[in-house]
Amino acid sequence: MRIRLRYWTGLFVVVVVGIGVARWQGDDVPVDGAEDGAASVASGVDPHDAPGPVLDAGPDIAPDAVVARPEAVPEATPEPDADGGPVTRWSRVVGPGESLAALLAEAGLDPVTRRQVSQALGEEFELRRLQPGHALALELGADGSPRRAELEIDDGVRIRALFGDAPSVRVVPPDLDSVRLAGAAEIGSSIYAALETAGIPTRFATDLELVLAGTLDLRRVLAGGERLRVAWRENRLEDRAIGEPLIDFAQLDLGGDRYEVLWPGARSLRTRIYKNGVLLRTFDQPIAGARLSSAFGPRKHPIHNIVRMHSGVDFEAPLGADVLATQAGRIVYMGKKSGYGLMVEIDHGGGVHTLYAHLSETNDALRDGQRVAAGDAVGRVGSTGTSTAPHLHYEIVVDGKPVQPLTDERLLGADASETASALAELEQARQDVRLLARDAPGAAGNEG
Ligand SMILES: [Zn+2]
Repeated sequence: MRIRLRYWTGLFVVVVVGIGVARWQGDDVPVDGAEDGAASVASGVDPHDAPGPVLDAGPDIAPDAVVARPEAVPEATPEPDADGGPVTRWSRVVGPGESLAALLAEAGLDPVTRRQVSQALGEEFELRRLQPGHALALELGADGSPRRAELEIDDGVRIRALFGDAPSVRVVPPDLDSVRLAGAAEIGSSIYAALETAGIPTRFATDLELVLAGTLDLRRVLAGGERLRVAWRENRLEDRAIGEPLIDFAQLDLGGDRYEVLWPGARSLRTRIYKNGVLLRTFDQPIAGARLSSAFGPRKHPIHNIVRMHSGVDFEAPLGADVLATQAGRIVYMGKKSGYGLMVEIDHGGGVHTLYAHLSETNDALRDGQRVAAGDAVGRVGSTGTSTAPHLHYEIVVDGKPVQPLTDERLLGADASETASALAELEQARQDVRLLARDAPGAAGNEG
């Protein structure tokens, strides 16, 4: 993924207004209705929740939905190809109720070619999820054969199919700018309410609760009056916010102690939790830039409404995102398993295994028994097995029993120490939130 990071070391801006905040709130309503945010969000259902039917959101539009014809901007321009031959380009935004087949027919493709293009794009995208606003672009050779088909789906993500001698289909992530923001809040009844009042994305209440699980029980220890500062990143595509904002730092003053969480940046994988400036706990995650969406332990099943044990943690991540081994080890299983879908299991020695489940694909270069290093890609995020939406289910299993991944330190080995770059990141984050805390409502105290 090519994310251009733009670190703003000067003045920071708190985004409080309007549509973005409203949208985030909509996404963040806890599934169980608890006002301070639930310990899980409905990003997916896991193997160890009941074996229920797999839900499927389906297309957003009814097939017979109506239909004002969209503004069609077909553009057919013959020009020289890289291979020397002339190539014709055709592109159009999808309108309400339109299918890919209809668009391909409109582009002048014969039935055989239409099927070929549909099958290719369908490998990485469920075609019935095609929606108005998505866009199709085609490149055809002089003989009408497809060279390339590209479907732009949500948030600038594209499905790119290449034809000819070396056919391939892949998900191409958007080229985004990353903007850093920060804000402060004083906690009254709940973190969720405090963030809402301060105009900070309320989903961070869930992020905090999940990352601190096993360190602090936020539902029990908050008395009110605690001060919370957070810094986060927002991805933008030409000034349009893309996806959800991503928290990367939190500072919580609680009962005379200061807790700090430094989440991993776009390239790093390690979360660090500090108490009074001392590193208390670290956690290596298997997907860069992802955030936890569901905790380890008993949880209420989002569909069946009964409490079941969740044997791992879930990460919210887009379809196709790389899943990385958290530590070096040997692959002991790659394949399908009931509930887990397509999965990879790695043996790290000492009775410690990690599991990566619901994958869309495993890394072709790997075989059972092969050794991998920490950070090696083992597969891609999917929604196979008992899952409602793309996400990763990650487990640490010790002597055959799943353990809480955020507190179990058996995976860390000798690598749990502080690094200079982590300390520099921590200092920068502290400085960023300090700048803003002065101006935030209810935070005019003696902060320094
Ligand atoms: Zn899970």
